[in-house]
Amino acid sequence: MSDRAEADARDGRSPDDGVDAISIDEIRTYLHCPRRYEFAHVDDLEATDSDGDADRLRILRRAICAALRSDAADADALAEVALERLSSLWDAHDERFHSVEQRRHERAVLEATVEAYCDSFGEQHAAGCARLERTGEDVALIGPQRPLSRRVSLPDVLSGGSMDGRTDERTPETVRIDATVDYVYGDGDSIVGVRFVPTLASLGLLRYRSRWEGDVEATFTDHFDPESPTVESDVAAALLETSIVLEGLRSLRERLGLEDRECRYVQIPLVDRSNAAVNWVRGTVETSLEAVDLTEPYVDEVSYAMSQQHRNGTVDDRLATVAGRIVTGRFDPSDRWEAIERHACPDCAYAVCCPEYVASEVRFDG
Ligand code: SF4
Repeated sequence: MSDRAEADARDGRSPDDGVDAISIDEIRTYLHCPRRYEFAHVDDLEATDSDGDADRLRILRRAICAALRSDAADADALAEVALERLSSLWDAHDERFHSVEQRRHERAVLEATVEAYCDSFGEQHAAGCARLERTGEDVALIGPQRPLSRRVSLPDVLSGGSMDGRTDERTPETVRIDATVDYVYGDGDSIVGVRFVPTLASLGLLRYRSRWEGDVEATFTDHFDPESPTVESDVAAALLETSIVLEGLRSLRERLGLEDRECRYVQIPLVDRSNAAVNWVRGTVETSLEAVDLTEPYVDEVSYAMSQQHRNGTVDDRLATVAGRIVTGRFDPSDRWEAIERHACPDCAYAVCCPEYVASEVRFDG
């Protein structure tokens, strides 16, 4: 194996082996609107939105991962490392604020978030990372944004070239789908991938459900039914992401020689201010964090009974179908136009250059 290939394998990057690759963020965009995907990822048109929350998330995940990579073991020591890293990242952070006071407040919120993470999860997760590192395998466990991926075989109807005009003999039989987690730790009999996210709002009912059967299954399948009024793009994307992450963790598990472990996927929100308590007189902020394990609402009992693995045949099938639609260039939004117009167009950064949207506005005016 070459030096480059060894480094890729250690860090979880898939080798550039000529296989078509799609990221889960691209799939999420496609689920909201295929035309939006085309603008963003085929035409490479930049959306103009600036996103302060994305910057804050980037700073926090780097600060926390620095602490997890250090020798710090207890909550206080982890917080000390993370806050030191946060300080240097924040000093270099260029963002316009209304006042010095506002900038100070934003920093206090980030510091409170770091402390809440270290108090709630830091010690246990740092110990879990160290436990996996003791396997002695040369595998990167801590990111930020450590890559994981899975390959999916496209449905026969795609590789057979019968879906639309762009499908031809160059349509691949398999594609690689990429996702990331910020770190992986060992927890008892489980290997857990953790991803920091801005908030949990996009998870919808997944936050409150612990089983696939019932309304999670109905919501997911209805989202893909063109006859159904249900539109839950973010919920569908979260389940597809869970499928990718769990498969990526299974590959990692084998590299670590821990084939008997269960794989789990957890998200922790770092830019959610709903739990923040601000004392404006003292200038202090306190907050708390909640983690959501997406494994339970993802796993369907039928697949689990057959494989004893956390799998979901319905989600995996949809993942392959969506990937196939993307690689065969199916970007026409008309088959779900009413839903897209109602749910995706109002906050779309591409509306001014979108022919479908402009046409609908003209129709409205006429
Ligand atoms: S304006 Fe609407 S139809 Fe056009 S790309 Fe955006 S979401 Fe899609």
